[in-house]
Amino acid sequence: MKTDLWDAVVVGAGPAGLMSALTTAQGGLGVLLLDAQPGPGGQIWRGAAAGQKGAAGELLRAVATHPAITVLGGAEVIAAEAGGRTHTLTVTSAAGLRQIHASRIILATGATERFLPFDGWTLPGVVGAGGLQAMSKGGLDVRGRRVVVAGSGPLLLAVAAGLRHKGARVLAVAEQAGLPAVAAFGVAAARLPGKSREALALAAGLLGVPYWAGCAVVRASGQHGLQSVTLRRGRREVTLDCDYLAVGFGLVPDTRVAALLGCPLDGAGAVHVNAWQATGVSGVYAAGEVCGIGGVDGALLEGFVAGCAAGGQIERLHDAPRRAGLQRRFQATLERSFALRPAQLPTPSPRTIVCRCEDVRHGELRGFTDWTAAKLQTRCGMGACQGRVCGPATETLYGWHFGGVRAPLLPLPLAQLLDEPTTLSPP
Ligand SMILES: Cc1cc2nc3c(=O)[nH]c(=O)nc-3n(C[C@H](O)[C@H](O)[C@H](O)COP(=O)(O)OP(=O)(O)OC[C@H]3O[C@@H](n4cnc5c(N)ncnc54)[C@H](O)[C@@H]3O)c2cc1C
Repeated sequence: MKTDLWDAVVVGAGPAGLMSALTTAQGGLGVLLLDAQPGPGGQIWRGAAAGQKGAAGELLRAVATHPAITVLGGAEVIAAEAGGRTHTLTVTSAAGLRQIHASRIILATGATERFLPFDGWTLPGVVGAGGLQAMSKGGLDVRGRRVVVAGSGPLLLAVAAGLRHKGARVLAVAEQAGLPAVAAFGVAAARLPGKSREALALAAGLLGVPYWAGCAVVRASGQHGLQSVTLRRGRREVTLDCDYLAVGFGLVPDTRVAALLGCPLDGAGAVHVNAWQATGVSGVYAAGEVCGIGGVDGALLEGFVAGCAAGGQIERLHDAPRRAGLQRRFQATLERSFALRPAQLPTPSPRTIVCRCEDVRHGELRGFTDWTAAKLQTRCGMGACQGRVCGPATETLYGWHFGGVRAPLLPLPLAQLLDEPTTLSPP
């Protein structure tokens, strides 16, 4: 098989990936930037156009017009292998399977939402908070729809404001963290440049929407689809009739490709990096929320640092490590403030489905002591999502370590597996 070597491949075209691709290319390297989504932008800039005003439009335009950057959308890394000098990624796309080789890889795979099971969570109308946001950015008409936003983290506010902007009726934002913790986060955020303006804009967008801190999701109810959600505030239960429950309990770094490459993780389950965003595997860097949840500004900064390091332009860093230090402190406050509190989390009943791909229920799982034993005996995590949804849930529910990452990361058509992978050459 012919092998083609790229100078650098960036996996993930969100803010971190876009910035690192641009910075690496400015160092004179040829860069392949690939993403599973059809277009670049990642979660926060999904659907943004290169021509539009603001930071997203500028960065997208700079990447799209840089002659040393090739952007490949609809291309998902499903296997990865670290070599001595050259690493190999296997990528699936409409064109079939491809093998891509590079001496430098920057992982910017972002994060996914953490879902926790409760009675009724599989009803149509119960969706991830960021997921509903993404669907509305993608064209779902939410005008006049009654939405309850629940779970934990500042993303709930961004989602609520975004949905309201699109015409939804947001009935309440229910946050599991207590009010003092949320207030501490607000103070820390206000100290970061630009954040107080962002917070004011969010507050203006949510004027009149009740924000209930210390509030737990109890159940979602409905016959064939969601009709109401019951929340617990203190000792009182409140039931709200609604069309959507947008729910998510924070974000989980998407470390699957990093795990296949053998990159060590830190204690919080994010990719461990040094001050130059280098992972424990030579030639592999990581940036953005795959290294810890910290928002778009941190993702851009880390993308810049990773691009400077991968492209050999350390002199461009100036005070970036100092700013990255500030971001990391903000990240730590975020983590502390929205730490999940068992008493405020949904309590599944024995019949609640935990693994929805394989229909495995809480009652079948709670007797096991670890992920592997549960998986072998119940098929939990062996369905289409390969544990991407139920893995983090079982960590929170049962304290297991979810270590089930194996290639291929998603089910593939047999025809693709039977074909000899083609290679993708630099221009
Ligand atoms: C569902 C969701 C919705 C969000 N919505 C908002 C919002 O509305 N407002 C807000 O302020 N913040 C939002 N956030 C948080 C926001 O994503 C971060 O603040 C920031 O954008 C992180 O940037 P990033 O570049 O690290 O990752 P992301 O923007 O998440 O980009 C990661 C990219 O990597 C790609 N990827 C992952 N794995 C692979 C693979 N194996 N192969 C190829 N590509 C891969 C993904 O498709 C994705 O495009 C959201 C997060 C999530 C998870």
